[in-house]
Amino acid sequence: MPELPEVEVTKQGIEPYVQGKRVTAVKIYDGRLRWPVPKNLEQILVGQQVALIKRRGKYLLFRMDDGHLIVHLGMTGVLRVLKPSDELKKHDRVEITFGKHVLRLHDPRKFGAVLWASDEDGEIEKHPLIAKLGLEPFSDDFNEAKAGKHLHQHAKGRQIAIKQWLLAGQAVVGVGNIYCSESLFSAGIHPEMAAGKLSLPRAEKLAIAIKETLKKAIKAGGSSLKDFVNSDGDPGHFMLQTKVYDRAGLPCRVCKTPIRQIVQGQRSTYFCHKCQKK
Ligand SMILES: [Zn+2]
Repeated sequence: MPELPEVEVTKQGIEPYVQGKRVTAVKIYDGRLRWPVPKNLEQILVGQQVALIKRRGKYLLFRMDDGHLIVHLGMTGVLRVLKPSDELKKHDRVEITFGKHVLRLHDPRKFGAVLWASDEDGEIEKHPLIAKLGLEPFSDDFNEAKAGKHLHQHAKGRQIAIKQWLLAGQAVVGVGNIYCSESLFSAGIHPEMAAGKLSLPRAEKLAIAIKETLKKAIKAGGSSLKDFVNSDGDPGHFMLQTKVYDRAGLPCRVCKTPIRQIVQGQRSTYFCHKCQKK
């Protein structure tokens, strides 16, 4: 599943071909995505210019003249820049043409989204898909001075396991399943600890671990930027070498204890029971 780092790298990969460009055509090959793609998307978009692309959580927000185009990659979506003459592939769902480049959404499982949010309907920050998202991990509100306090405050009184609290994305976005296990390991926190037990010093450690983990993944993805343009390959995940994720039974990279795998809320969690404390 594309996580925040993949979405961020997608944004960086497509930006040079799309930003400042005007939409010349739109084609919907199969609009039955997570929500139906608006049938009049071509009418809406043609002639409008992309002022900039923002990422909010795992949503890409294309700032157009009259509103925002909202794109989500869902479980299996990939956005690529191609030439209009490039052959259509199975599972290509929507394409938006900007003169000599097309932006194509390829999405086998169809959990992605392509939606329109008009300025007339209010600010994008208040859009139902956006409004409840946690803080951005690289925003000013989650800077070194504030992030630990924010996590500590948000976790207060919560009985839910810290892994599931973090994964829910209501405190901070972008910590998907892989990055959750990795961040908790780096911070030395047991994934089954109640979120409410997170002390301020440990919250500060966790905040740093989250940022470092995501930064590393984005950096690793930077080398695959070219894959978003004129490419057939799947850029996939960027975490080159995980510390615990998907390493069940293998020795901890710090203390050599075998890594354990448990299931929390139907998702796998990996951790070292020696390095990570409740
Ligand atoms: Zn260990």
